[in-house]
Amino acid sequence: MQKDLVLQSLINEETDRQNQGIELIASENYPSLDVMEAQGSILTAKYAEGYPGNRYYGGCEVIDKVEDLARDRAKELFGAKYANVQPHSGSQANYAAYHALMPNGGKVLSLVLNDGGHLTHGSPVSFSSHTYSFSHYPLGDEGRLSIEEIKKALDEHDPDVFLAGYSSYPYDIDFKAMRKAIDEHNARKGTHTLFMVDMAHIAGIVAAGLCQNPVEYADVVTSTTHKTLRGPRGGLILSNNEDYFKALDSAVFPYAQGGPLEHVIAAKGVAFLEALQPEFKEYMKKVLENTKTAAEEFLSMGVSSSGSENHLFLLNVLDSYGLNGKEAQIRLGKAGITVNKNMIHNDTLSAFKTSGIRIGFAAATTRGCSTSEAIEIAHLIDRVLKGEDPLAIKKRCVEIASGWKRIEAIRHL
Ligand SMILES: *Cc1c(COP(=O)(O)O)cnc(C)c1O
Repeated sequence: MQKDLVLQSLINEETDRQNQGIELIASENYPSLDVMEAQGSILTAKYAEGYPGNRYYGGCEVIDKVEDLARDRAKELFGAKYANVQPHSGSQANYAAYHALMPNGGKVLSLVLNDGGHLTHGSPVSFSSHTYSFSHYPLGDEGRLSIEEIKKALDEHDPDVFLAGYSSYPYDIDFKAMRKAIDEHNARKGTHTLFMVDMAHIAGIVAAGLCQNPVEYADVVTSTTHKTLRGPRGGLILSNNEDYFKALDSAVFPYAQGGPLEHVIAAKGVAFLEALQPEFKEYMKKVLENTKTAAEEFLSMGVSSSGSENHLFLLNVLDSYGLNGKEAQIRLGKAGITVNKNMIHNDTLSAFKTSGIRIGFAAATTRGCSTSEAIEIAHLIDRVLKGEDPLAIKKRCVEIASGWKRIEAIRHL
């Protein structure tokens, strides 16, 4: 309980909102109480610029152990020789990784942004496009990644860095084939294109061993810790390419950041330990099952759905319901279902409207969403988008969400 009653009432209000709502934003999740306790700890009081064993300030003996614990667990979890747990966010991780891999003005080849790239993958409103020179590879048929398109783009643009990893791509990614394409490109052209993967969205799936691990193939892997990985809000960098370990360290600190958030780093360590448990793999299997089942339920209702091979899918709401993504998002919000508007492959509308919405089941599954509930939720969404009164549907949504684990009481270990 806060002495600041104004803030306490806002926290209460948000807790209620989260408990009553069906949270389907694919980038969100609920960390455990253990994670939140570590994040709320006194470790926030300590300045520790630098790295374990090499700090600018005294009094870091304990903090060094905290950061080493988080780094060691991250390395174990992802099979990496190098881990940097200091990036404040996924964007900060990318900022630092780019700097370590190439000089300002360097060339990056990333996916066409509207097909699932992140702002930091070359958007005009992000630092990335101002510091580096971006070109883009397209998706192939049916909105799936195509190794042929990637090979063509590598030869055409000859980038310093090839970037994979996306914010709204619903299918498996063949990192091994990408590595091979890059190696072949380098051999053919006598160049040195590096392979960077931003696994912000799928880190939890990777941790659970349920998809290819990009750390085995890429020179550098960046991530967030708060999406499918279910840790505190933050960033992470991993690598197995020894040539870049030192450059990555100095790109995070002192180039991109100052003092690390050691309370958040402690919480990352807790989340890595949780993700190392067999229960986490079971959780992630359920996420994949709920997502795939709901995505296919839409198909069986005749709705234009991407289907899914991970924790998210896209619906073409313009074709299916005559609504743009923004309208669909607002209407579902009134029913207590939170989603976000999203561009779809070959979208004809702007990023402000979009033709699609993105739906993910990582957060709902943490609270206990079952597969039959995932199917029911698909039908509730369909009814709202077809024009039924969202307030009438909301009753059932609140009922479903109220049957799940409460937000304050989520224990993962
Ligand atoms: C979410 C995301 C990020 C950025 O994470 P923030 O912590 O919000 O800065 C970076 N890359 C991808 C692919 C993402 O989905």
